[in-house]
Amino acid sequence: MFINSDILQNPQSVANYLKGDYFAASNIDDIIKHEMTHKQNWDKAREEYRLHPKRYKDLSDTIDQLNEPIFVYVKHMFYTDPMMLSGYLRDTILVHNNRKVVAELAVLNISDDVLNKLIKEVLI
Ligand SMILES: [Zn+2]
Repeated sequence: MFINSDILQNPQSVANYLKGDYFAASNIDDIIKHEMTHKQNWDKAREEYRLHPKRYKDLSDTIDQLNEPIFVYVKHMFYTDPMMLSGYLRDTILVHNNRKVVAELAVLNISDDVLNKLIKEVLI
């Protein structure tokens, strides 16, 4: 997902864009939360890579390795409890996009302590 300036200037277009249950986001605040989660996730990866450059090939590998435990956890949910997840989240799992998985999960805010602890670890 991305921030499109028209969307931010026009709440009605946000409502249309987000119509239905495909995305976890249902308003502008959710979209901003999604984008902020991407930023925090990258900032965390940058810091991790700076601290432990030998553990990773590059920054992209760092974010992949950081996010992998969340991906594994949520993939298990995908098979056991798919209706807990948004359609967008199910699709991002199928294409193995761990960055989108993390951002979408932050907006979905599923009440699962293990999952929320894993998410916190890749953001802060
Ligand atoms: Zn996104």
